[in-house]
Amino acid sequence: MNSIVLVTGSSRGIGAATAKHLASLGYAVCVNYIKSGIEANKVVTEIVNNGGKAIAVQADVANEDDVIGLFKSIDTGLGQITHLVNNAGILLPQARVSEMSAERINKVLTTNVTSYFLCCREAIKRMVNGGAIVNVSSAASRLGSPSEYVDYAASKGAIDTLTRGLSLEVASDNIRVNCVRPGFIETNMHADGGEPGRIERVKSIIPLQRGGKPEEVAAAIAFLLSNEAAYITGTFIDLAGGK
Ligand code: NAP
Repeated sequence: MNSIVLVTGSSRGIGAATAKHLASLGYAVCVNYIKSGIEANKVVTEIVNNGGKAIAVQADVANEDDVIGLFKSIDTGLGQITHLVNNAGILLPQARVSEMSAERINKVLTTNVTSYFLCCREAIKRMVNGGAIVNVSSAASRLGSPSEYVDYAASKGAIDTLTRGLSLEVASDNIRVNCVRPGFIETNMHADGGEPGRIERVKSIIPLQRGGKPEEVAAAIAFLLSNEAAYITGTFIDLAGGK
């Protein structure tokens, strides 16, 4: 059976590293993005130039109609999906809970939580011969991110619970659901949170004394998707330098 994977939010950062790594392992990859079409197409070009197969599809994964369209594009462009990496996520500028509007909280929750549910739903419908899902959560779900983004941390707490509940729900269908919890990874997400130099500021309190690389997260995701992890479901790999 050919391995066909959707990596949501794979125009840059952890998603792009994961898309490229999975393509190098033989997966046909759907590269999803919302705004960065040029970057997404660069990821596809790199994969194709290295002998792999990939398509880029623009879709807001927080929008139900867009998600339905995204999966239809995979059906026609690549075939029946076998693997899913729920990775797309946002961080809004650092704020205390006492300053957060309902609009902000809902944007974080729909982008970081509703999207994962919708993509799981569409993938599971198609995984009639089994499959594997990896959700990208965050160390923030354990640490809480006080005075920075408790809304984001809470959205990742929901992903931990989704992982556990869904893994039990679909285990007898031979669909495995696991989770990675990165922290302090060198991507542009920290700039979106208003502090591009965040990792430099906090690295002395990270036991391994450095930020992580997107490729290090991609390797853990690839392991959890692979047959080497065939007896692993409902579990978490923490990638936060020991924090
Ligand atoms: P990033 O560099 O900011 O990239 C985010 C990706 O998500 C981009 O490809 C972006 O697409 C896409 N995206 C955002 N909203 C979307 C939407 N509504 N629909 C479709 N795509 C959307 O982020 P990252 O640091 O690689 O983070 C990836 C995942 O890891 C996130 O779930 C994040 O919470 C998690 N994580 C990151 C860290 C870290 O330290 N970096 C730590 C823990 C967890 P466009 O480029 O088109 O906007």
